[in-house]
This record gives sequence, structure tokens and C-alpha cells, in this order.
Amino acid sequence: MVTPPQAPRWENWARTAAATPAALARPADVDELARTVADAAALGRRVRAVGAGHSFTAAAVTDGVQLSLDALDAIERVERRPDGTALVTVGAGIRLAALNGALAALGLGLRNLGDIDKQSIAGAISTGTHGTGVRLGGLATQVVGVRVVTATGEVVEASAAQRPDLFELARLGLGAAGVLAAVTLEVVPAFLLDAREEPWPLDEVLERLDGADGLVEGNDHFEFYWFPHTRRALTKRNNRATEGPGLSPVRAWVDDELLSNGVFELTNRLTTVLPATTRRINAVAARSLSARRYVAPAPRVFASPRRVRFREMEYAVPRAALPDVLEQVDRWVDASGERISFPVEVRFAAADDLWLSTAHGRETAYVAVHQYWRQPYLRYFSAVEEIMARVDGRPHWGKLHWLGAERLAELYPRFADAQRVRAQADPDGVFDNPYLERVFGPRG
Ligand SMILES: Cc1cc2nc3c(=O)[nH]c(=O)nc-3n(C[C@H](O)[C@H](O)[C@H](O)COP(=O)(O)OP(=O)(O)OC[C@H]3O[C@@H](n4cnc5c(N)ncnc54)[C@H](O)[C@@H]3O)c2cc1C
Repeated sequence: MVTPPQAPRWENWARTAAATPAALARPADVDELARTVADAAALGRRVRAVGAGHSFTAAAVTDGVQLSLDALDAIERVERRPDGTALVTVGAGIRLAALNGALAALGLGLRNLGDIDKQSIAGAISTGTHGTGVRLGGLATQVVGVRVVTATGEVVEASAAQRPDLFELARLGLGAAGVLAAVTLEVVPAFLLDAREEPWPLDEVLERLDGADGLVEGNDHFEFYWFPHTRRALTKRNNRATEGPGLSPVRAWVDDELLSNGVFELTNRLTTVLPATTRRINAVAARSLSARRYVAPAPRVFASPRRVRFREMEYAVPRAALPDVLEQVDRWVDASGERISFPVEVRFAAADDLWLSTAHGRETAYVAVHQYWRQPYLRYFSAVEEIMARVDGRPHWGKLHWLGAERLAELYPRFADAQRVRAQADPDGVFDNPYLERVFGPRG
């Protein structure tokens, strides 16, 4: 059912992209979803699905019909395999927190996750959302089948065996191939993680990154946060465990709510009015972080609450380029006079073969820069984008960047295939918006 616009239900998380859709629709099931798309297309209206609105780019923005898949959020089918893994088909609108909960109740879990669990599964895979782990890929690599509503309102199933080209674009392609109604995920038995967080000198992190026993190879999930204006970092090493002491609720609240959100919001407000305090505040923050170690179910270790709003740009670079990239960012920050209050986050992923995956064909390091949403970010992000361009960095599809189709075609060997399938699946541009037109390029 398409309804006239009401008070905006959805707002871009980072407030980077305002949108006024002509209509909002919240179909109750796949048939209603298919009718809604077909009706909109017949009226010449554009359609965009929205998940949790957590992208920093205007990927989900439309002036046509905005479709919320919130009602398609059920586990539909579970096919267990002898080795303990399972294929789970789930409504595309389900939020990751709910998905994690439902999988845990079945004794199952996703292999890897990003650092929040607010996104919808469809939104997360469509933008190439990833976590960290040198032997693991992003969320879309865990998808083995999709149910898609095409631009004509037809409902089709796709997988590596059935309509493989459509599958490629549908599992990671910003919704250019159609609206995802359901996805089938390959999941694993639920597992615990031994989480070890420690502040380290940045130089020691960089020295000990590589090699068989290095931080990257030697841990299932390694990441670090570097505090600009300092040479200090917070390291996170998460490894599979069978048992161990948990984290007391008080310590969890102090670290995750009070320090990472409450105090962090206050220090960001302070540095917004008094930028000169940034360097000192970062140094104090980096030094006052204390080590902690605990064991908990994987989803609880992966995701933490993020209530301080920020803007973000993240680039995927060849792993070997990481030290040089960080050095250049550090040098630029020093020379520029800009004050950066948010840490730079560094993660890792295995090479994969998904057409539009930021880790396509190369072992990858992710470098994410953030800026508090009330502070200027354009100069910082533009400089970082220039640095990333020199090493053929690929931008996260859901985070800020200024690349267009021409450059993206140079960065992705299968980009022309993605463009071809988009043209075949949606010849009239029902699923277009200005962001898609920019990144996929004009229709021929
Ligand atoms: C605080 C925060 C933390 C984050 N952490 C991480 C992280 O750890 N790792 C990482 O990689 N990214 C991270 N991100 C980025 C985030 O995961 C992506 O931007 C993701 O797309 C957001 O999911 P969403 O459900 O909000 O999608 P939306 O932003 O609503 O939509 C994203 C895209 O998916 C499309 N889409 C949504 N639903 C459908 C559907 N049913 N069918 C077809 N297309 C659809 C939309 O049209 C749009 O193109 C983070 C973002 C924030 C704000």
C-alpha cells in the first residue's frame, strides 16, 4: 500500500542526505511488495528500498516511492548440514540485531559482522558492509541466494546456479538489480569470542602487523583505532574461544556507554567550540583507555552502541599499502592544521570475487576516517580521498566519497558486467537515484 508522505520516519543517520519521498510504502509481504513496485513503475515513478537509513551516502534517497522492508523480517527456512553449518533464508528487512538473536536461538551465527547491528541485512549486503578478519569476507560473501523483485514487479530467485549474473548484482549492488525480499545466508554454529582490547603505541602496531604470527594473521579478527595527533592506538584482538570470564555489566556500561558514548559526545562538543583542545583531548583519551579482556557470544563482541553521530569515509586499499597510507594521513593532519577528534579505524579482509566487493581480487586493509557531525569534514575527507587514489583505494558504497563511474570502472575489473546487468534488469531506471546514476554512470 502506497501512502502519502507523513512526518519523516527515516532520516539519514549521519544527516548527510535529506530526502523527501513522494510516497512511503511498507508492504506486508512479497506479493504486496511486487505490486507496489509494478504500480510505481507503471506510473513512471522511481522506487528505492531503504533499510535502517544508516548509510552516509544518499544511496537510499528518492523523490519517488521509498520502500521499507521492515515487515519482511522473519526467518523463513533453516536447512541444517551435517558439519553444523546451515543455510538460513530470512526476510530482507530484518535488522542485524534481530537476525543475530534469531540465529542464536537456533544455535547459529554469522561468521563475521561489522561494528554495529542496527542495519537491515539487505542494506548491509547491498553496500558491501564488512567486519574485520584476514581470512574472512564481508557480509555479502555469506549470501548464497536471493529473492528479488525486479523492475517489472516479477519475483525471481537467484543464486550462483540460477541467474548467476543477477545474483551478483543483487547481493552487492546498492539495490540496482531490484528490491531484495529475502536472502539465504550460509551460517555457522554459534561461537564465543575472547575479546582483548589494549592501548598500544602505533609504531609497535605497525611493526607487528605482518607475518605468520603477526597481529593480522595471528588473530581471527584484528582491528585498531589510531588517534590522530598522537602515535597511539587501541588494538582489538578477537579470537574464537570455548570459555572464559565475561565482562561485568558495570564495566561494560562504563566502557561502552559512559566513555565511548557519553564522555565522547561531550569531548566532541568541546572540540567543536574549542578546536585547539583536540590534540590534548586525543592524547588524554588514547592514554586513559585501559585494557580489558572478556569472553562473550560473538555478536556481542562484534557490535557496540554508537550514539555519537559522525560522518565517515572508508577506503579499501591493498593491504601492503596500509603503512604508507597511514603515514601520509598522519603527515597531512599535522601539516593541515585541521583538528580531528575521531580515531581512524583500520580493519582487514580476505580477497573475494564478488563483482562490486571492495575486497575484490585483493587482500584488503580498510581505513576509515570519521568526523563529528557538527565539525567540518570536507577538507579532511578530500585529502584522504586523494591519498587513497594513489593506491587505487575503493570507497565503501555506503560511506562518503566523491568517485564516479569512470574511476570506479578502473578500480573494479568486473564493473562493466555490473553495468550490463543493471541495464538488463532495470532498462527504464526504476531503481535509479542521483547516487546510483553517479556511481554506475548514465544509461547508454
Ligand atoms: C554507526 C555506523 C556504523 C557502521 N559500521 C559499519 C561497519 O562496521 N562496517 C561496514 O562495512 N559498514 C558500516 N556502516 C555502514 C553501514 O553498514 C551501511 O551503510 C549499510 O548499508 C547500512 O544498512 P541500512 O540497512 O541502514 O541500509 P540503508 O542505508 O537504508 O540502504 C543502503 C543501500 O541498500 C539499499 N537497500 C536497502 N534495503 C534494500 C532491499 N530490501 N533491497 C535492495 N536494496 C536495498 C538501499 O537502497 C541503499 O542503496 C556503519 C554505519 C553507521 C551509521
